[in-house]
Amino acid sequence: MGKALIVGCGGVAGVAIHKCCQNSEVFEEIMIASRTKSKCDRLKEELEGKTKTIIHTAQVDADNVEDLVKLIKLFKPNVVLNLALPYQDLSIMDACLETKTHYIDTANYEPLDTAKFEYKWQWEYKEKFEKAGIMALLGSGFDPGVTGVFSAYALKHEFDEINYIDILDCNGGDHGYPFATNFNPEINIREVSANGSYWEAGHWVETKPMEIKREYDFKGVGKKDMYLLHHEELESLAINITGIKRIRFFMTFGQSYLTHLKCLENVGMTSIDPIEFEGKQIVPLQFLKEVLPDPASLGPRTVGKTNIGCIFKGKKDGKDKTYYLYNICDHQECYKEVGSQAISYTTGVPAMIGTMLVMNGTWSGKGVFNIEEFDPDPFMEELNKWGLPWEENHNPVLVD
Ligand code: NDP
Repeated sequence: MGKALIVGCGGVAGVAIHKCCQNSEVFEEIMIASRTKSKCDRLKEELEGKTKTIIHTAQVDADNVEDLVKLIKLFKPNVVLNLALPYQDLSIMDACLETKTHYIDTANYEPLDTAKFEYKWQWEYKEKFEKAGIMALLGSGFDPGVTGVFSAYALKHEFDEINYIDILDCNGGDHGYPFATNFNPEINIREVSANGSYWEAGHWVETKPMEIKREYDFKGVGKKDMYLLHHEELESLAINITGIKRIRFFMTFGQSYLTHLKCLENVGMTSIDPIEFEGKQIVPLQFLKEVLPDPASLGPRTVGKTNIGCIFKGKKDGKDKTYYLYNICDHQECYKEVGSQAISYTTGVPAMIGTMLVMNGTWSGKGVFNIEEFDPDPFMEELNKWGLPWEENHNPVLVD
């Protein structure tokens, strides 16, 4: 069917690329382009001979629009899948505009010097994308991503209006380290050390980091403490899902993770303000990333399951109703299949599916879209096919 340019070659990209190669009828040719070309070459070597997909590799600095434009003009992909870091979103969108190529990502743009999770910068590209006749699909990972598809599906099939959504992200995996993060440490720590917030009655309610704690009994995992965080999909779902009165996001954390994080914060290691060290400017959080285990190395040692989903409360035919949609994913199963743990897996699979639906024209449009704006049914079908089967519960325990 076509060609995709995949930017970045870390944990999530590794899974998405494995999945593209399992789906070579759609992904006939891919180009893996990242900052460190040797990582792209290693993956190509691992996959070649096991897939019909033709794999190319390239070095690219995704902060540099000119570099990206050159590469896109050379390879002429149908779509660009951005699996680098959130800092690169806008430069890659600029390159897509210049070359009139569709754009897909899994995380909203963040400026390097402020931990701010907002769609405003990317939503500002709407008119430019409309004029160029191309589309940007924002947030095609799990959360954001599948959580938006679940919300659109619930609204389409189960409710007339959804008033409350609680997104619950549970990682019951154990990697055996006292402290490590399951995806890029810098991005992860920026996210969890920021203030929390949720959307209620038309405005944001801000909380201190980890201020709101609940316990929930997750199927496949068991009882876990979870904490309210700000998360980017709250912003788009509050606009796109009819009838929303409140939407919250909770993520589970173990005590060891929280104790280490507190200590690192207390000594200034999670700061993103540059400091002078031996005559050089360094950002403490970026230095910390270098000494923590690489998330890609956690695969062989992580055991247990993730359970991520959304609990909805709303109305159908005038009656109150609740509904829970979730996926359970096993770390070791993912490792056996694609050599990575479940956090990268649950992001990489939806990234491939979103890219496929744009490439084959199932989802089309001109402009900048969040994932819940499209028909959820084809995506839900593909989740079952590609390793993230979903389950439903019509009588879930609610979070107070
Ligand atoms: P990694 O750090 O493992 O990988 C990032 C990759 O991007 C690396 O290969 C890195 O290159 C490359 N990269 C970084 N900067 C540049 C640049 N300037 N030019 C070219 N390449 C660059 O991150 P993850 O795979 O864990 O995460 C990837 C994305 O997925 C992130 O945006 C993250 O926020 C998002 N994510 C989304 C989730 C969701 O559910 N929606 C969940 C988890 C992650 P190098 O190898 O040289 O370092």
